[in-house]
Amino acid sequence: MADLDLSGSSNLVALVYNEQPPPVDPKVLQERLKKEKQMKKDEEKTKRQREKEKEKEERRNTKMTSPHNKRVTIEHVKYSSPDDSDGVKPREVVDHTVEEEEAPEDKSDFRCGKGVIFCLVIVFLISMGVAFIVSFKLTEQSLGGRKTIIQEEDGIVRLGALFSSEPDDDVEEETEGRLPRNIEPIWYNLTSRVFLPGFVDIPANKLRLVENSLLAKFRVVSDTKEIVLNSALSKIPESAEEWKILKEEGDRLVASPVQVSTVTVNSTAETVLLALNGGFKAGMEFLLKVSYVGNLSSSKIGLYTSTYRTVDGKERELVVTQSEPQNTRRILPCMDEPDRKAVFRMTIEHPKGTRALFNGIETGTEPVATTPDFVRTHFKETPRMSSYLLAFAVSDLAMKVTTTSRGIPVRAFVQSDLIDHIDYALNVTVKMLEYYEKEFQIPYPLDKLDLISVKDFSFGAMENWGLMVFHERFILFHPQVSSPLSKKEVAKLLSHEVSHQWFGNLVTMKWWSDVWLNEAFASHCEDTATARAGVMEGLDDLFYFKTQGDAHSDDSFASSRPLSTPLHKQVEIAQLFDSTTYSKGASIVRQLEEVVGVDNFRNGIRAYLKKFSYGNAGHDDLIESIKESLRANLSYIGAELKPFMRRFTKQNGFPVVNVERPDTMHVELSQEWFQKDSNSDGLNKHGASYGHVWEIPLFYEINEEPKAVTWMTEGLRLPSNQSDLLILNSDSRGFYRVNYDPRSWSRIHEQLNKNHTHLSPLTRLRLITDSFALADAGKLPYDVALDTIRYLPSEDDRIPILGAIQALELIQKQMGGNEDQEKVKTFIRRVLTQFYKKIVNWERLTFEDEDIIEAEIVDRLINQLWQSGDKEVADKLHRLFEDSLLNQCKDANSISSQCSKVPPLIRSISYCEGAKRGRDEEFNALLRLYKNEIAVTEKSRLMNGLKCSRDTASLKRLFQSLLDEKNQGLLSGKSVDEEVFLKYGNHDLSKKIYNEFFFENHEKLMKKYSKNTAIVSYLADAITASTKSELADIESFLLSNPSMDEFDGFAKAVETCRSSLTWQRKHAKHLVEEFEKRSNRV
Ligand SMILES: [Zn+2]
Repeated sequence: MADLDLSGSSNLVALVYNEQPPPVDPKVLQERLKKEKQMKKDEEKTKRQREKEKEKEERRNTKMTSPHNKRVTIEHVKYSSPDDSDGVKPREVVDHTVEEEEAPEDKSDFRCGKGVIFCLVIVFLISMGVAFIVSFKLTEQSLGGRKTIIQEEDGIVRLGALFSSEPDDDVEEETEGRLPRNIEPIWYNLTSRVFLPGFVDIPANKLRLVENSLLAKFRVVSDTKEIVLNSALSKIPESAEEWKILKEEGDRLVASPVQVSTVTVNSTAETVLLALNGGFKAGMEFLLKVSYVGNLSSSKIGLYTSTYRTVDGKERELVVTQSEPQNTRRILPCMDEPDRKAVFRMTIEHPKGTRALFNGIETGTEPVATTPDFVRTHFKETPRMSSYLLAFAVSDLAMKVTTTSRGIPVRAFVQSDLIDHIDYALNVTVKMLEYYEKEFQIPYPLDKLDLISVKDFSFGAMENWGLMVFHERFILFHPQVSSPLSKKEVAKLLSHEVSHQWFGNLVTMKWWSDVWLNEAFASHCEDTATARAGVMEGLDDLFYFKTQGDAHSDDSFASSRPLSTPLHKQVEIAQLFDSTTYSKGASIVRQLEEVVGVDNFRNGIRAYLKKFSYGNAGHDDLIESIKESLRANLSYIGAELKPFMRRFTKQNGFPVVNVERPDTMHVELSQEWFQKDSNSDGLNKHGASYGHVWEIPLFYEINEEPKAVTWMTEGLRLPSNQSDLLILNSDSRGFYRVNYDPRSWSRIHEQLNKNHTHLSPLTRLRLITDSFALADAGKLPYDVALDTIRYLPSEDDRIPILGAIQALELIQKQMGGNEDQEKVKTFIRRVLTQFYKKIVNWERLTFEDEDIIEAEIVDRLINQLWQSGDKEVADKLHRLFEDSLLNQCKDANSISSQCSKVPPLIRSISYCEGAKRGRDEEFNALLRLYKNEIAVTEKSRLMNGLKCSRDTASLKRLFQSLLDEKNQGLLSGKSVDEEVFLKYGNHDLSKKIYNEFFFENHEKLMKKYSKNTAIVSYLADAITASTKSELADIESFLLSNPSMDEFDGFAKAVETCRSSLTWQRKHAKHLVEEFEKRSNRV
């Protein structure tokens, strides 16, 4: 295995890779495989059963270690590739026997009841006496040439081998309903006439129709007698005569002798099968022609309409597309899979007075001879690209243009009365485009980059090549309406979407199961590239608090899914666009960058983008490119990248490194799966491909001296004195938590209290966050976590303070409706008030100086104090609601985004406090403003306010509006932003009312939204429970509606609630006592 460059390396694992394994006797191998299969089945059983099995096994081993049979047995575990038969990775168990005469006699009958790792540590300690009598060579031979399990260098001893490069087991998971691979597309040429209302006279029978004519060219890959395409068109031609097959003869297209004989439409699989009256041979090319009529819907997928307001206050419609993941098939029959790349050509006929946009730039317009009210716009064809990137739009939105230093036009399209709100986005786009061109060393390949802002959009944004679509909420910024935190979101999102123009669009994943790679990289860019390009400072540090923090918290549930999840059904694809993909993805990419170094990482990305330009790649291809760059720079990181990455991407969760002190001179480290609730294994639907064991890059320092990264699998023994200040995962560089031994924790506390600045702010954040998360999971007494924030009054850096606020927030949240909740709130108020007094200035809440971390902490402090019942804060918010909203916006036609004087940073909670204290009058004022509002950001704050009402009947009517018909109901049938409606700002009463509403109406809701899985996920995710009876309601609902089980939102709601109840049982009493004790000290 010479695929790593070992030159100049003194790394302790270098030896491992030099030995070639000798051939294995097939019989032995067969026996071993049998054994592995049995073990794998055992792993599938419940935890209890597994533990019993382990205990049995361990007892057997213990017997074998007794002096009577004169042998010592160590179980050596090497994780190998999965067994294809059932997809679970087997563990190879290798018996390593050491003759007793070499070992010191040990008559103790020890048991290994705490699991294999612990067992290994104990057995290892006993065999320490002989470990160095038996040389590496001997050990390797006795292992049959496998990698050694125990290694030592410079006083560091590793238990467990590093994982070697594994066979490529990335056989594409079979997702049902994929297209056959007998043909591939070369290009599509689509002409669409869009009958968009509101501009010219359109005959009633054509209103909101789209007349399409498609000509597409295909290459035959293997002999075939049929053509299968994706199609979810509402009216697909079903007679064979309507589908024409043509061939090229010189410049002319003539009918092919092979024609379509029958057409079979499968609406479930979303395919159309064209049987041929003959066949095509591999290597042939043919063209397919078909005309069809489509409808403009308001479904937010495929080609749909969204509304906006014109300058004269009229509501207009625009047409826009959302193709990802699988909606291009709603626009044209095509091969709608990411690796069926093709060139797209487009001509749009649209009403006079509108402008048509496409991925490629406009090349000219002309009148349509047959229909004088229409214009025809031609566009430049796209480069070869995946179908999910197809985009076009028709509207009369206002345009603002700027250009990059290389002369690429960047154009923004937005409703005209909000045109001043787009300047910031344009500015950031240009900066990021220029930054990425340098960073990737590949010029942006298209002739323009457009941004279009729409109100009705199911996602934050979509990176369509050359024509990015944004939800208005995430693209517009104006200091009068937007909070400084929205400015941060705009910057991050643009950085994300612009990075996709290369990473995702130029090089695309082969199949959706790897979509995490696209999104993880783009999410990584949100914080790093935005800061590095000089667009917004502070984001780099906020990553550790926000993105990594979110990932840790989401991924500590047993029900979390692996980043790279096998896809069995097409319906599962849309569910992949969740926080795991984004937050954990970004954290894993960041860890990789930390491991290989920024320069090697950058070089690897450049090589990857160059090598796979206009093509597709899998995640191993990226790893290979980074490995190449390591080789080129003669760097050696001490571990194989592929197995290291796979353990973080192909199994859910992440490790906690446990520290123990066996003597005064050493620490011993082991790892385990970090779970918020270790009793919830049953909710782990996804198994664990590698037995929840990770290869951990150990970043650490002893007495403020940073040490070289050391790799850890099962265990590690480091030299460390009792008095040493030992910090693992310093600067939060790895994706894992650390639980120290009591001595090390108290040494850390001592340092924090004496002079905390000896530890970096990111290390302080890590210590605070880890200690509270460990306490929350019952792995550390809360006293220890609370001791970690005892030094806080002298903390000046805002990142660790943010960590502490968040930890306290979680405690308050978990107290739920507990009777002692008030006592907890009192403690939290006392802790936070000292910072509130020091940091918050109500007269200065705009943060025009762009101090984003300051804005974040002020927002958190006010928010958390308000939630903890701080009267002063609540009164201020209420006063602002009355004086700066209601009194300023009295007029029946007032538009809140223009009249409200409440500082945008705290508008949402100010409106909520107003509605909470108010009655019908306040509710109706908010409702009036909601209906009048033109800016989506403001609309969502008003909606959050409405949801804070204490009036059950009003809340019921509010949720009912999800099902209201046009011009009816509380919102007069005005379009509802389901994401805003469901994802944000739910409070105790509105949560309860929502649950009831969902249980009663789930069939109608599913019927309405079944095609839009993003909204279905919002519906499921909004289900919550914080009491036993609410939990019982969800469980009985799921029992009677098993089909709902496929949405992870329900499992998560159940797990969150169960763990919260367990938490209360375990910790509430003690915490309250502890808080009361400490209240006097803070
Ligand atoms: Zn993305």
